[in-house]
Amino acid sequence: MAMRSMKRPEPIAVLLDMDGVLYHGDRLLPGALRLLHRVTRLPHAYLTNNPIRTPGEVSNRLTAMGLPRPDPALILTSALATARWLARVRPGFRYFAVGAGGLDAALREFGEPNARNADFVVVGEGAGLDYEQLTIGINLILSQGARLIGTNPDPTVDAVRNGRHLILPGGGALVAPFAAATGVTPTIIGKPEPLLYEMALEMLGCSPGECLMIGDRPDTDIAGAERLGMWTALVRTGRFAPGRPWPDNLPVPDFDVVDLEALMTALEDAFPGLLAEV
Ligand SMILES: [Mg+2]
Repeated sequence: MAMRSMKRPEPIAVLLDMDGVLYHGDRLLPGALRLLHRVTRLPHAYLTNNPIRTPGEVSNRLTAMGLPRPDPALILTSALATARWLARVRPGFRYFAVGAGGLDAALREFGEPNARNADFVVVGEGAGLDYEQLTIGINLILSQGARLIGTNPDPTVDAVRNGRHLILPGGGALVAPFAAATGVTPTIIGKPEPLLYEMALEMLGCSPGECLMIGDRPDTDIAGAERLGMWTALVRTGRFAPGRPWPDNLPVPDFDVVDLEALMTALEDAFPGLLAEV
């Protein structure tokens, strides 16, 4: 374990990424059910860079997979983090959004859609980005000084279509044409940026050192949590396969395990009682 662990308290709360941690495609991952039965007794939250689904839809999806129904209030998406951050920067903001329904649902709570006069051009994920939307967005940025916002930096995301694994463009890829056309650097909200983590910490009333972040991506889940001083655990059940060497430029997690079963064993050793059965 890393030296810096000496300076931190033991974790009392758990933050969970979902895709690649609890499930992959439509398949539950080993240990997901057992982990959730234990974690849901602790302060916890679900953090996802996926802005497509609303928290209610995410909750339904996890339940349909056989997991205990999560409280939607504990599900923090990059779309929610984006909406809350924009409201803080400019209360009552006007926006032009490109992306699936979850993003617009989050933005409407705090702002007003306006394709002719917008403070922000917000790019999320999902089908629909076309020539017309790109044109509107570029003109808002170049002629009106609208600020370019991306919900999340992921270049690609995993999906299942007709039972087949498919790689889809992520938020990072979809914001890129706006950036290329305008020469503007987008402001990115999701992991590894601190906003999603900070929202969770505030909601749970925990300090970073009291939180364990469990994720499957070194560059987002782990890098962002490390930067804030959280405990970190990487499970190699998603994007980062077992045996793959750790990238030189990224911080090493406190736990690096093949799956959630192995993580529970490691956590029982390191922090007896954290995940105790009742
Ligand atoms: Mg993931």
